Amino acid sequence: MTSDQQITTERPNNDTQTQDFGDNPIEVRETDHYQEEYIRGFVEKWDDLIDWNARARSEGQFFIDMLKARGKKTVLDVACGTGFHSVQLLKAGFDVTSVDGSAEMVAKAFENARDRNLMLKTVHSDWRWLNRDIVGKFDAIICLGNSFTHLFKEEDRRRALAEFYAALKHDGILILDQRNYDAILDVGYDSKHKYYYCGDKVTAEPAHMDNSLARFRYTFPDGSEYYLNMFPLRKAYMRNLMKEVGFQRVNTYGDFQETFDEHDPDFLVHIADKT
Ligand code: SAM
Repeated sequence: MTSDQQITTERPNNDTQTQDFGDNPIEVRETDHYQEEYIRGFVEKWDDLIDWNARARSEGQFFIDMLKARGKKTVLDVACGTGFHSVQLLKAGFDVTSVDGSAEMVAKAFENARDRNLMLKTVHSDWRWLNRDIVGKFDAIICLGNSFTHLFKEEDRRRALAEFYAALKHDGILILDQRNYDAILDVGYDSKHKYYYCGDKVTAEPAHMDNSLARFRYTFPDGSEYYLNMFPLRKAYMRNLMKEVGFQRVNTYGDFQETFDEHDPDFLVHIADKT
């Protein structure tokens, strides 16, 4: 072995990696691209700035209450990201399994839980092949933090929802959230919709919007910028898709409220029931 052929079992250190959207970023409309968007620098910075306690306060008990009210105990967090919801649910006594398609995210979620003296059961899996990688069926699946929007093709969305459906017990529920893209597409974002996370530390705003691309820019206090390219899911389309895949009922909440004006909320939460 020569000196530059070292074997390492550690994660590749890609701290200096930059996001690569090519020459024409608004042409990047691919489901698989999420893997390259969540580079470590972005993930670490995000977690440093988004105070978990503040996020927990702003969401309140909504997801815990919804799960408890329906008697759900085993939860599959299919977009665990850095582990925020998995950790909240573990602390609340749920039996949680945490999945993400990004190895970077799975590792960070495990680390974040361990720092809080919790052990996460983690699985590295893409939703489109979820049942190949998990064992058993769950009472509930959560897909939160505007994650489903990463799927660009309709066949990928149908495939992922079918995998979620199959991973649930006969009376299972899917809780899936999304940005209110109808408001951004129909009303615009210049005046009203500028999104802040935890005060004004991180700004998230659309850099480009059309019917098949929502490109968001995230600006951090040190002036650094990162982008995510996503598919703008319309509320009616998303609700319909869940029903077509087999979910019997879909209830949608706007910013955690049952009644809301269509364009008011920033986020929508869908609760889809199998029975
Ligand atoms: N739920 C977390 C939160 O709220 O902080 C993370 C949200 S982050 C916006 C979206 C997550 O979805 C990322 O961790 C990404 O890796 C994951 N993801 C996107 N597409 C995926 C896919 N096809 N399969 C599995 N995970 C995926």
